[in-house]
Amino acid sequence: MTHPGTPPDRPETDAVSLRAVRWLTDPTTVTGALTGALLVTAVVLATRLPGSSLLTSPDGAAALAVAATLAVLFFLTELGQARIEVRSQAYSFSLSGIPLLLGLLYCPPHLLVAARVLAAVVAFTVQRVPPVKFAFNAALYSVDVCAVLGLTHLLVGDRPGLTLATAGLCYLALAFVDLLLSGAVLLVIRINGGPVGADDAVEVVLSAAFFVAFNTGTGLIIADLVTGGSLGWVLLIGVAAVAVLSYRAYLVLRARHRSLQDLQDFIRLGEGSDDVGQLAGRLLPQVRDLLNAARAELVIAAADGGRDTVLTVDEDGAVGGSDAPAQPGSGSLSVDLDASGTRGTLRVLDRLGDHTRFTDDDLALLRTLAGHFGVAVHSVRLLERLRYEATHDVLTGLPNRALLSDRITALMADGASGAVAVLLLDLDRFKEVNDAFGHHMGDALLQEVACRLLAVVPAAATVGRLGGDEFAVVLPPSRYPQDDAVALAGRIVRALRAPVHLSDAAVTTGACVGVAVASPGRDGADLLRHADTAMYAAKDARLPVLVHTDSLDEGRRERLAMLVDMRAALDRDEFELHYQPKIELASGLATSAEALIRWNHPVLGPVSPEVFITVAESTGLIDELTQVVLLQALRQCRRWHDDGHDLSVAVNLSARNVNDPHLPDRVQAALALAGVPARRLILEITESSVMGDPERTVPTLERLAAIGVTLSLDDFGTGYSSLSYLQRLPVRELKIDRSFLLGLSRETDSAASEVLVRSIVGLGQSLGLTVVAEGVETADILAQLHALRCDVVQGFLISRAVPGDRLVGAVERAGYRTVTRATLPPPRGRGASAAATVPARRVPR
Ligand code: C2E
Ligand code: CA
Ligand code: CA
Repeated sequence: MTHPGTPPDRPETDAVSLRAVRWLTDPTTVTGALTGALLVTAVVLATRLPGSSLLTSPDGAAALAVAATLAVLFFLTELGQARIEVRSQAYSFSLSGIPLLLGLLYCPPHLLVAARVLAAVVAFTVQRVPPVKFAFNAALYSVDVCAVLGLTHLLVGDRPGLTLATAGLCYLALAFVDLLLSGAVLLVIRINGGPVGADDAVEVVLSAAFFVAFNTGTGLIIADLVTGGSLGWVLLIGVAAVAVLSYRAYLVLRARHRSLQDLQDFIRLGEGSDDVGQLAGRLLPQVRDLLNAARAELVIAAADGGRDTVLTVDEDGAVGGSDAPAQPGSGSLSVDLDASGTRGTLRVLDRLGDHTRFTDDDLALLRTLAGHFGVAVHSVRLLERLRYEATHDVLTGLPNRALLSDRITALMADGASGAVAVLLLDLDRFKEVNDAFGHHMGDALLQEVACRLLAVVPAAATVGRLGGDEFAVVLPPSRYPQDDAVALAGRIVRALRAPVHLSDAAVTTGACVGVAVASPGRDGADLLRHADTAMYAAKDARLPVLVHTDSLDEGRRERLAMLVDMRAALDRDEFELHYQPKIELASGLATSAEALIRWNHPVLGPVSPEVFITVAESTGLIDELTQVVLLQALRQCRRWHDDGHDLSVAVNLSARNVNDPHLPDRVQAALALAGVPARRLILEITESSVMGDPERTVPTLERLAAIGVTLSLDDFGTGYSSLSYLQRLPVRELKIDRSFLLGLSRETDSAASEVLVRSIVGLGQSLGLTVVAEGVETADILAQLHALRCDVVQGFLISRAVPGDRLVGAVERAGYRTVTRATLPPPRGRGASAAATVPARRVPR
């Protein structure tokens, strides 16, 4: 006998008009209708029950006793059901056929019906069967018992006696009714959303036929044995044979199911392992158990010819690493892991149990396990690598910013007494090394720095690389965090000062270290930011080590405020240019003037360009600022020409401008707009702005030179002054930095400084460059520059930077002249008129 699972819920929609239709076609309604039909059938059948049982019918108390016994048997068989699952539905087969057959033979029909229905109701109540299913199954059982009663009496008629014919007819009656009702059950399953295919129907029908045969057979045997007949023995042998065969089939099925289950468990067990060791720890014991071996072993071949990794699990379950594969006692079985990228072997040693040697079945199983193991090892390794790469710097192998931040956060949350400290350091001149010697040398330098850092920091500290040439050290909580950190910073600075030998060159680098100590209410991100601020402040102040204080943050805030003000000043056109003349010593003529930006801040008053240019350079504002300066300077240049003074104008460029590949186009447009020929424009660049990324900057400079613009190398001598790259740059002018001139005036340094300046002048002139000395403040220095045959001078001695319309006056007041000539052609082709005049000559003072 079968009965269905609970009808699943169906989603509802809102359409009211469809409600009735839907109610009618609702699975619950249809099941209810079927239940009703079954109940009616049962009632009709119950009114036509036969008067007596097939064999002896006891009376009175004996009949009640028989019925009670049957009721108990029905109840027990109902509870002890065999379940077969088809898709999502479960079919239950019970042995209730046995008491049913016995009831047919020995129980008065109405008592049998009562026993059957009562037992079912009690059993369903105990099992808490849901109401719909309860009602359906109760109705089904009622029909079952009544129909079987009616049909057997019809078939057997009044030919009682326990003969083979009676047995066969009983079987037919039971099987027929059972099949009929199984059909009803399949129908209900289908109504309740279970997809019942032909295969399922055949399976259910065959199982029902088999169970009915078994139940009927068993019932008859019991009956025959009770009455002492000989049929019982024949049937007993048959039933025993069926039972043995089914049990064997069941065992095979179960074993297959079990090994599939084992395999599934095996695969699932490996999921989520963090590393190969953990994976082996989970899977090797399984391999050992599944293959009934004393030990299991995983050998992973080293990728680079190093030692293989051997992981073993023995009988006690302990997983350990060993250097070499174990020696088997009685025998071993090994299979290669064949997963892409992972070479290895899975081995089991010393079979336990009845077989002392591994069988072919074992080999097949090991192959399957090795296949899964290989895939698992491969994916764990992939994960390991991804996890490592996500948290480490590839070049140095140090933790990266993400991992370092996590460490800081973890240490701060640790609750240990004391405070965490962070040191953040930035290498000096790293870019220069990178550019001058190539990226592989830069990489080697970073690796050496990483090694030195690891060598000086205490074991509990974490060293990481934040990117570029920035490193950080995290110190665990300490009672004197600042003292410890500063002491360590000192050691780091000293360690990094020693020259680094890179193949054939020795490079000296250094570092500025910013220190920050955790304080209450601040998180890990604050700590890193504070260390960063301190580091930049240290760089600005040219200090090796600086500890973060809140006032540094205020500096930061000031910079931000300045940025906002600059933005406004740009919009209101508040930036002005002043011009400082450059005098050609040989002729005493002012040949050009350097445009220097001036800003009169509404609150702060005049702000030094060195301050606000730096702020602008840290943002994109410098692009706009340079554009403004360029246009204004060229307009002034044009005005001088229109007034008859043949002067070039020099404009300072920032690193960011030099890195802008569109700069040449912008310059050309500005020249055209102002109507100034390119040869009247000088662009002053610094060594460091070019050195940052020569691959990018040199082509830009070459395009500018090709336009006809003069490039001037500013602040020469302060950066990474190198002859080799000076030749590569299309510069035509060299400006010796002011700091070199200071020495010329002091008695003591005079001789040495003179040699230095002389050599720079000689060097520049030998390369065909015009050499300019800037920052000339005294007549004494000017005289020396004369003697050294310096080409051009610029400085307070001649003139400070003055507004454009006062420049010529300033030059003349200083005793020099400008080159005078006729006007240039008007801008943008407004017709040309040019007549050059001979420049006035003047003898220098
Ligand atoms: P710089 O290009 O080296 O400009 C020369 C600086 O030296 C100017 O300072 C000038 O006033 C000063 N100077 C000139 N002669 C003497 C002297 O005899 N003695 C002393 N002690 N100083 C002298 P300033 O105008 O304060 O400019 C400082 C720096 O700001 C400039 O250095 C330049 O790097 C930058 N700068 C100025 N204007 C601009 C600009 O329009 N654009 C860009 N990108 N940078 C600018
Ligand atoms: Ca300059
Ligand atoms: Ca300069």
